[in-house]
Amino acid sequence: MSEPFDKPIWSLYGVGEVRAAAYNKAGVYRILDLLYYFPRAYENRGEIKLLAETCRDKKSAVMLTVATEPRGARVRRGMSLFKFRAYDESGTCVITYFNQDYLRDKFKPGSTYRFWGKVERAGRGYAMSSPAFEPYVEGLPLPGLVPVYRLAEGLAPKQVIRDIKTALSYAADKLLDWLPEEIREEKQLCTLAYALRNIHEPESYAALAVAKRRLVFDELFMYSLGLVLAGKRQRSGGAVPCKSNDISKLIRMLPFRLTNAQLRVINEIRADMERDIPMRRIIVGDVGCGKTICAAAAMLIAVQSGRQAALMAPTEILARQHFDDLAPLFAQLGIGCELLVGATPQAKKHRIYEALALTEPALRLDIVIGTHALLSEGVEFAAEGLIVTDEQQRFGVNQRAALSRKNEQAHVLVMSATPIPRSMALVMYGDLDISKIDQMPPGRQRVDTFVVDESYRARVDAFIKKLTGEGGQVYIVCPAIEEAEVGDNEISLSDITLSDLGRAAETQPPLKAVEVYAKELAGRLPGVKIELLHGKLKAAEKERIMQSFAAGEIQVLVSTTVIEVGVNVPNACLMIVENAERFGLSQLHQLRGRVGRGGRKSYCILISDATGEAARARLETIRTTYDGYLIAEADLRLRGPGDFFGGAGAVRQSGGLRFRLADLCDDIGLLNSAMEAARALVGRDPALDSCPGLRAEVDRMFSDAISEIS
Ligand code: ADP
Ligand code: MG
Repeated sequence: MSEPFDKPIWSLYGVGEVRAAAYNKAGVYRILDLLYYFPRAYENRGEIKLLAETCRDKKSAVMLTVATEPRGARVRRGMSLFKFRAYDESGTCVITYFNQDYLRDKFKPGSTYRFWGKVERAGRGYAMSSPAFEPYVEGLPLPGLVPVYRLAEGLAPKQVIRDIKTALSYAADKLLDWLPEEIREEKQLCTLAYALRNIHEPESYAALAVAKRRLVFDELFMYSLGLVLAGKRQRSGGAVPCKSNDISKLIRMLPFRLTNAQLRVINEIRADMERDIPMRRIIVGDVGCGKTICAAAAMLIAVQSGRQAALMAPTEILARQHFDDLAPLFAQLGIGCELLVGATPQAKKHRIYEALALTEPALRLDIVIGTHALLSEGVEFAAEGLIVTDEQQRFGVNQRAALSRKNEQAHVLVMSATPIPRSMALVMYGDLDISKIDQMPPGRQRVDTFVVDESYRARVDAFIKKLTGEGGQVYIVCPAIEEAEVGDNEISLSDITLSDLGRAAETQPPLKAVEVYAKELAGRLPGVKIELLHGKLKAAEKERIMQSFAAGEIQVLVSTTVIEVGVNVPNACLMIVENAERFGLSQLHQLRGRVGRGGRKSYCILISDATGEAARARLETIRTTYDGYLIAEADLRLRGPGDFFGGAGAVRQSGGLRFRLADLCDDIGLLNSAMEAARALVGRDPALDSCPGLRAEVDRMFSDAISEIS
């Protein structure tokens, strides 16, 4: 970064040791950091009001001429004041300052000031108490927007403003713009010097907006660049090429024909794995499009080429299910496969560890399927070739980073659990190549979807009775009442987005608490076997209930969204969602995907008493739309990206970076643009030789982020 600004903050004129320490505490170490210490808001002092136009409960700017000599008084010990009169064409105002005697000489009768503060009515006139003031000089316009900085210990706002002014005047124009000129021009961005000056001392609202856009772009561009470079770094050679990639035996064993989309994706994987550059690829596709078999093909290719493969799922239930589906296939091919989850007995775990670490290819274990347990210390592969992760979004970048750091040279394949819009995919998976399965296996039935309110309760009950009587099974999902919803004290203003307002403003119907709900249901449906599954149960208990449901011993499973993950119970033919208005569209789509997996005609009933227009529109979308991508796009539009990251906290985790200015909701267009620019730049200049300073800055940001992840 440009030289003068790299200097420590104490070297700035006027900043002593004490203030330097206070700055360090606030995260400001270099002079440059001070320029990046952005205001949290701006006072709108540009709109000058007449005294008579002001309203009492809002700060206003007034332009007043001093009428009388300031007169002081001692109120009591340790407290003094002075006051004077000032006027404009609409009236007279008494202005009082407390304990600021040193200001007294400033206010000469006849001089004009702009005052900023609350204007009270007082008798027939007005009064202001300790307003902020700036002298007015004819021909010299006063700034309209005055920055307000976060209060930080040991830093008086006035000093901060003055220090920033010093830093700006110091040499703002010497500041090196690290963004390549052609990108700046193509994206129509202002220079860095202009941006930093105007974010602190905006010439106008428009100038401020232009400045902010540039600085938001910078953040997003850095983020994108970091992702793209991370992807590149992982790819620098050294992987074992997997060339034995004939998978016809596997294909012949399947009871169905692969779709063209599946074949295309398998070919993309095959081409990746043939090379000595480690694969970093994600398979995206709608629920039920058949991602798992593509992963199985990749695992087979690894094993045939003499390597081992691991598949990691976000929950035990899912891991077990993958194991139950895939182990028989691998067995038929003569390939060993074990399940490793938290609940696996210790002795068995150790046998698996040993078998994985054997150097003799004929003896060692080829495939392991499991949960986070795969990340534990004991797991060492003798010949790691492929890592597959089946990602719930919340699984996220962190674990993926952990896994691939452990095995940098392994090929990595990710299956995404739900369709995500392209813009989101870029943020979450910007470091991966994307394979899309855009075709469903033939003969998939459409799950008829209904939206009803409480008045249908008796009919819904009767329907449950009828379907279970015919041997079908039913899911009922209620929204979880999680402590996190109230307990978390960390909601900051910047987490509140415009797109949330519409939802919050609508009054929400009361939540169905699962336990009470299950009891009442059991009372209404005697003879039907009902079980309750919620997040507070122990993992082993959840597991037992899920297995029992899969085995058909339970007819109705009442649950919070713990079942959202891709469990497969083909006999389930009815999905009921209570308080459906509480769920994201993608989540509802995912839930609906739990039924219609077998031969039974299947249904989805969304129950909601919400009357708000937005809520009705959302439910109407899900009722009439079956394409997961369209639904995800609508979800993004209606609710913002929060859902895709599993809540605001997770947004910040994605990639480990905190955005200071960028808001992924509002700035999604700019993000795309930044990602595009980053890819292009790395494409033509992988070492960033043409951009001095940029490389160092990216490394600095990402080394922070990486230490946050690990
Ligand atoms: P997802 O992409 O949601 O993970 P899965 O891989 O679990 O979907 O596949 C869903 C179901 O579809 C599985 O039971 C699987 O065996 C089946 N399946 C996969 N591919 C095909 C196909 N080409 N034709 C018919 N059924 C298929
Ligand atoms: Mg799946």
